[in-house]
Parts: sequence; structure tokens; C-alpha cells
Amino acid sequence: MRPAAAPGRDHLAADCAACVGLCCVVPAFSTSSEFAIDKPAGVPCPHLGDHFGCTVHDRLPELGFRGCTVYDCFGAGQRVAASYAGRDWRDPEVRPAMFADFEVVERLHELLWYLAEADARCPDAALREEVAGLRQQVEQAADAPGDVEVLRLQLRADPLLGEVSAAVRGGGGADLRGRDLAGRDLREDDLVGATLRGAVLLGADLRGQDLTDADLLGADLRGADLRGADLTGSLFWTRLQLRAAVTDATTVLPAAG
Ligand code: SF4
Repeated sequence: MRPAAAPGRDHLAADCAACVGLCCVVPAFSTSSEFAIDKPAGVPCPHLGDHFGCTVHDRLPELGFRGCTVYDCFGAGQRVAASYAGRDWRDPEVRPAMFADFEVVERLHELLWYLAEADARCPDAALREEVAGLRQQVEQAADAPGDVEVLRLQLRADPLLGEVSAAVRGGGGADLRGRDLAGRDLREDDLVGATLRGAVLLGADLRGQDLTDADLLGADLRGADLRGADLTGSLFWTRLQLRAAVTDATTVLPAAG
């Protein structure tokens, strides 16, 4: 049976209407295929409107802002905005702390995204309990991000997610961790239960692939052709990965939750 959406991830989806345009201000952009301009960190994008909406939202790819169409803050923006109770980054008194909080909460929310899936998919009760404990700690950290050592939490999560992955995949599947598979034709490879952690799949041909139980954590799927592929059972995927890949109506996407 294919897994349903992992519960407890509702707050990990961006709600731009409840944010103050943090993703359009905090990060730096460099002119590239993803961004049409150079923008220093902490400076508002010239296309950000007075009410924190993007004034070119319906023309982003045409104007060279493809990076904005795939970006995902994992819901960090609205969490940070809510914690400042109506004040925003235009107020110099809160600006530095708000920017720092956004950078921390964004990383914590990404971690929570994976931990929620680990919690929902892990067949081992003891491991699941460990995941649940860490998940709780990360949630608490996101409530008070001021002094959080994100790296410490990431270093705890990494092996745990690896153990969950192995438990879900039953120890089988190809080990393609970190492999450079850019541009490769993988249509005939057996990728069920494979670990593709950190693999470079840039522009790879994955058409028609069955990615059931394949671990996609950190895989670079930019331009990877997923038409006709089945990802309903894949592990540790993100919206950013899927938006950056080539998909169409024949791609079977994972449950969103
Ligand atoms: S182009 Fe629009 S979405 Fe992209 S950073 Fe600027 S304001 Fe934000």
C-alpha cells in the first residue's frame, strides 16, 4: 500500500499572505539562470510591493526570476512574522533579529518536514520514538530561535533519517548516494528502494521510473525529467525538488501533506 501524506506538516507550507515578504528581502541573489538581478542580503527585491506581495508574480519566468517559482520557505515566513506581532523588517529595531530568526526557522522547518515523514513512515517503534523526541525539540527551537544551534540538530537528524531510510527500504535498493548522475539516461535502472541522497540528477532522464521507497534527501533534481515517473512512495522529497524538475500530468506526485 502506498503511504498517505505525513501528518503534522500543515504549518510547513508557505502562507505568503501571512508573511511580510521575508524571502524577497533576507537572501542574497546573484544574476544567473534563476535570478535576473544581483541583490544583496537584507535588501528588498525591487519587485516587492508595499504590502509585501510580488508585483511581477504572474511573469516571474519571463522576467528571469525562475528561482522564485521553485523557492519554498517551508512555512518559516509566517511563523517568524507572527512572532513579531505586527512589527516587520522595515522597523530597524526588529530587523536584525527578524532576519536572523527567518534564516534559523527556515532550516528548522525543513528539518521538521523530513522528521514528520520519518515519523509517519518508520516501521521501527524505537526509532520512531527517537524521531518523535527530536521532532519535539526542533518545534520548541523554532518557537525560540534566538540561541538555537541548528547545526547540532541537523547533525542529530542526519543519521536518524538515514536509519529510518534503511528501515523503510528494507536494506535493499541501489546505493547511489552522492553520485554524479547529471544528464544520465536512467530510464532502465532499477531505482525502487534506491538511496539517491545528495545525488546530482541535474537533467537526468527518469521518465517512467518507479521511485517507490527511493530516498531523495538532498538530491539535485533540477531539470530532471520525471514525466511518467511514480513518486508516490519516495522518501524525503521536497516541493522545491519537485518544482525544479520536469513534471507533467503523467508524473505521479507524492501525497502533499
Ligand atoms: S521577483 Fe517577486 S517573488 Fe521574486 S524576490 Fe522579487 S518580489 Fe520576491
